[in-house]
Amino acid sequence: MERKGRRLVLFPLPLQGHLNPMLELANILYSKGFSIYIIHTSFNSPKPCKYPHFSFHAINEGLSESETSRIDGHLLALLNTKCVEPFKECLRRLLSDVSEEPIDCLISDSLFHFTRAIAEGLKVPRIVLRTGGASSFLVYAALPLLRERGYLPLQDSQKEEPVVEFPPLKVKDLPVPPVTDNRAPTSFYQIIDSLVNETKASSGIIWNTFEDLEQSALTTMRHDFGIPIFPIGPFHKTILASSSSSSSSSSLLIEDQNCISWLNTQTNKSVIYVSFGSSAVISETEFLEVAWGLANSNQPFLWVVRPGLVHGSDWLVPLPHGFLENLNGRGTIVKWAPQLEVLAHPCIGAFWTHSGWNSIMESICEGVPMICTPCFVDQLVNARYVSHVWKVGLQLDNGMERGEIEKTIRKLMVEKEGDEIRYRVSKLKEKANLCLKQDGSSYKSLDSLVSHISSLES
Ligand code: UDP
Repeated sequence: MERKGRRLVLFPLPLQGHLNPMLELANILYSKGFSIYIIHTSFNSPKPCKYPHFSFHAINEGLSESETSRIDGHLLALLNTKCVEPFKECLRRLLSDVSEEPIDCLISDSLFHFTRAIAEGLKVPRIVLRTGGASSFLVYAALPLLRERGYLPLQDSQKEEPVVEFPPLKVKDLPVPPVTDNRAPTSFYQIIDSLVNETKASSGIIWNTFEDLEQSALTTMRHDFGIPIFPIGPFHKTILASSSSSSSSSSLLIEDQNCISWLNTQTNKSVIYVSFGSSAVISETEFLEVAWGLANSNQPFLWVVRPGLVHGSDWLVPLPHGFLENLNGRGTIVKWAPQLEVLAHPCIGAFWTHSGWNSIMESICEGVPMICTPCFVDQLVNARYVSHVWKVGLQLDNGMERGEIEKTIRKLMVEKEGDEIRYRVSKLKEKANLCLKQDGSSYKSLDSLVSHISSLES
């Protein structure tokens, strides 16, 4: 890294769905002339060799293997305590290097809520990156009120009731912790409250979303939060649209490229791509329902079974003997896929997703309709938006059951309803492309972000 120029310090949360957008944002800001310094944990460290144009600074937060074995609220709480001292030390060191340009600001993942107090103490402005959607964040912000009004804790008898404050959400769409998080629900709400409060206390929020997708939530936020809001997404397409930088994979797992060769042998728009992201966990029973639902649908499928996806099982062990062989090449399974490449492949016809925000943005950008099975937190809100607000997908509303899965796949990929959904997602894809063009909403918002950063005073 040789560039001299205004410096930014970025601090990503070390989880796949957070690292990807933060590193994409780093590339975007680099293309705008900033020097990029990345402070990162030793756990799930990004690969500096893939980003020779950035300066990487590892901190040793001292998380043990057992502490990082599950991705849940407990891990988030640990990260927000164990990183405090090493992060402060590292930031102080970077700030005191007088041989370099001053640091304009810190850009922290919003889930690292402890960074607010440190940035304040060291007198450096702090902007946050929120890697989820704006609509789900408004629901997070309203959780205290929704609890007061009796929507939460979730009662089975109320699951199908509407949340009148947030149409078209139902009570069952309100964020809940992962099933593997066996701590009291109050600790989950405490994390969300800290996330919301410390985000609102920042000098601005950057979003991987775009105006046409979440206009209503963004407008409400501009009105209610009183801080600048910068929707500059979709990040991964912004990088391609901007001149100098290129997109580079920040995958923590090895991407299996063989699935692209397999996709090349399939027919146009025929394949369903199935992935539940980097942290969702399903039971062995659900896993078998997915397998049989896919097999019985008669559609070709590419299925990502991440090691650890199936609770208590070793990778594909629960699958019946000869399951894939009996399908005569109609399905393939990988541990991790090059998802951006997969979604952009002409043979992909649908994406069955856990409704993580990055996955939804990536699917919309390629005009791929979705089937949603949300597992926890904001995924539940995202899925309802996909199926009932943008209407670019269907939701598996009653859990994973093979008959329902088969029916939903066929509805989306073979029946008339699918045509309408495909049409709508193709229109949304056009909007996602347009917002990045000169004078598009994200293009302009990025310009305001750059001016805003330059106007901040340490
Ligand atoms: N991803 C990938 N290969 C896979 C599955 C996922 O590269 O096989 C990437 C995907 O492109 C996305 C991220 O991992 O950028 C997952 O983020 P998301 O917000 O969708 O879900 P999370 O993993 O945070 O639950």
